[in-house]
Amino acid sequence: MSLKVGAHVSIAGGVDNAVANQVEVGGNCGQIFTHSPQVWQDPNIDDGEAERFREGTERDMEGPWVIHTSYLVNLCTPKEGLREKSLDSMQKEVDAAERLGIPYVNVHLGAHTGAGVEGGLDNAASVIDDLDVPDGVTILIESDAGAGTKLGGEFEHLAGIIDRTETDIDVCVDTAHAFAAGYDLSTPEAVDQTIGEFDDVVGLEHLEYVHLNDSKHECGTNKDEHAHIGEGHIGEAGMERFLNHPDLTDVPLALETPTEDGKSFAWNIDRVRELRRD
Ligand SMILES: [Zn+2]
Ligand SMILES: [Zn+2]
Repeated sequence: MSLKVGAHVSIAGGVDNAVANQVEVGGNCGQIFTHSPQVWQDPNIDDGEAERFREGTERDMEGPWVIHTSYLVNLCTPKEGLREKSLDSMQKEVDAAERLGIPYVNVHLGAHTGAGVEGGLDNAASVIDDLDVPDGVTILIESDAGAGTKLGGEFEHLAGIIDRTETDIDVCVDTAHAFAAGYDLSTPEAVDQTIGEFDDVVGLEHLEYVHLNDSKHECGTNKDEHAHIGEGHIGEAGMERFLNHPDLTDVPLALETPTEDGKSFAWNIDRVRELRRD
């Protein structure tokens, strides 16, 4: 299958600019925010932009886009006010996805802040099931680095939320997060083991997207800082196996690598293409 890889690109100046931004870094799929992710804000997309985005995607992209929701969304929260804001924000993201023809909305489970793992997963399932998710849009739960009371670090949490929801949801594995959460990806054998474990616990049929990032911190540290592909603690051997694992070759990849040391998204996407063998 052809490699679907891209980056998290900016929508500055209009969401339709994301397509040109993606082409510029050599991507053929990828991720966007619909607004600044650090604040509560509604997507502000006019009909012309939405149409140009869909036309550009049809023309220039091979794989699917994914929307990453606001970092303030906390599906697991026991706090009513935060739950309501998260629900409202999520509804607007899935509606924006429908308008843009984007099939996926990626979200973190968030922190249970005292509700416990089971309580947090119950809270998250109830928010998801209160959404009116349009046809053609699927919510993806992103794997987490697992710091503090944040859920999604363990594959069991991802399986737990799939089990609890009436809604059909799937999963996005972030390689840097999974590694930080304790799933080794630094050798070919470790990659095979981790993919096997994911398949046993969650099921590879639920893996719809991957955030491909290397990690600045060691396995199991719960520290979430992304590194350039092949240059972190996952490293080249692990990345090469991940990119060529027979069960993963058709899964689209979005890079959230840093832009530092003179290495851009284009550099990282090139690196992915070099490490992939087909
Ligand atoms: Zn994320
Ligand atoms: Zn991610």
